[in-house]
Amino acid sequence: MNLLALAVFMTVDEAAIDALKRAAAVCDPQFECGGVVRTVPGGFEASGLTTSNKPFGVDLELFYGPNVVADFHTHICSIHNRPFADFFSQADVLANQGLHTVGYMLSLCDWNIRRYDPSQDDRDDEEVDFHSGLVIYLTCGHIVGWVPPTSAGRLELTVARRRSRPITRPS
Ligand SMILES: [Zn+2]
Repeated sequence: MNLLALAVFMTVDEAAIDALKRAAAVCDPQFECGGVVRTVPGGFEASGLTTSNKPFGVDLELFYGPNVVADFHTHICSIHNRPFADFFSQADVLANQGLHTVGYMLSLCDWNIRRYDPSQDDRDDEEVDFHSGLVIYLTCGHIVGWVPPTSAGRLELTVARRRSRPITRPS
């Protein structure tokens, strides 16, 4: 029996989306959290999750290697970053451009998973205006998935409760 079989996906999207769902379930929502997707025989596999224990930015360098094709991370949702949470930051975009990898990001504000591929997607395509008059441009990428804003623990409970009851036959 191959215990790793479950963790190997046919596409990069599936591996990254599965990993971000895991991140939503297990990571502390106060800190950014992420990892990478690597090519493995038969498909793609996500690394474990790491966090820098900081609200913004997570260092994925320790995961990077020749087989890495994508990275993924969460954006926390606090009052300080709410206007930016649904976009790839400048640093995110520069990292993916420099490393020639696809970026996946889960916003804990709108719970969408977005994908930014430097070879396909426009950069700095969204104008974000502030009350102060400041205007910055951020990168949208495009939405590839969604995570229900509930914990995985709660989902597991729902499944457990659906266990079939003993059948009682009418007499
Ligand atoms: Zn980011």
